[in-house]
Amino acid sequence: MSETNRYGLSRDIPSSVKKQVRQACSFGCVVCGQIPYDYDHLRIPFADAREHDPDDIVLLCDACHRRKTAHILSTDMILLAMKHRTAAQSPTRFKLSALKHDFCVSWAGNLIEANKNVILVDGVPILSFAPTDNPLEPILISGSFSDRYGNVVCEIDQNEFLAKSASLGDLTVVSNRFTFRMPDGKIALQYSLSDSILDIKDIFHTKNDAYVYGKNGRLQVGNLFRGAALENCEFYACDIAISVASTVERLDFSNVDMSRFPFGEAVGNVHSKNAVAIRIRGNAAFNVSSTMRYEWA
Ligand SMILES: [Zn+2]
Repeated sequence: MSETNRYGLSRDIPSSVKKQVRQACSFGCVVCGQIPYDYDHLRIPFADAREHDPDDIVLLCDACHRRKTAHILSTDMILLAMKHRTAAQSPTRFKLSALKHDFCVSWAGNLIEANKNVILVDGVPILSFAPTDNPLEPILISGSFSDRYGNVVCEIDQNEFLAKSASLGDLTVVSNRFTFRMPDGKIALQYSLSDSILDIKDIFHTKNDAYVYGKNGRLQVGNLFRGAALENCEFYACDIAISVASTVERLDFSNVDMSRFPFGEAVGNVHSKNAVAIRIRGNAAFNVSSTMRYEWA
């Protein structure tokens, strides 16, 4: 798309300007925090703009943009909302209105059906599902993802995804793909989201020395002493798909090479070498900790 205005300014906003605008608006609609949004020229409309000035571009969701166009929402109010939003470090919001009953989560290529608790770290679920027997009620998903420093980057409260802007360097949303970056530019979390799947491509969730690390179709879970690597696994009908416990207070994962991390002699090797799809029925898929070997239910 090479549409230009009468001053020859392209409609395409340079990526560096977009990033400044996202940061200034705390990564969501500057009025209400909603995703998705568009980049909106605030005081000088695009047709009259000679440049893409980051100080005059804001993020606006469809509903707020319509209110602005209808003069229900004034430029002054939008600027005030922006000041408040930045000062309060308000979260970014994306609400899934309903989830299908066969909703599943792909953790770096390993499929886990939505069933109660998916992965527990120190007994706390990263994701949990409110069970419902009524096919007319949507499934409710809740959870909390951290980055490799243990900072929460995304919380999910009953299908509402909240990005924690205070610890974020950037959050980009391209169609349904969400990419969370830390201030140093490293990816903290990347997923695609629809009403049938949460497809996690990139994750580095940590708690003390416990980790859930997924990248390039491989999921590693464990702690400093024991772990498992999974590829192409499928989990069905588990009360708890994966449970991992930490063993020491803290571990600095900032420069850890995860490919050199120890993982279980049986679980990791079998799955990673053979890339087999497994199906497990029972109460727990396996449990990894310093005192327990993995356990098949
Ligand atoms: Zn809005």
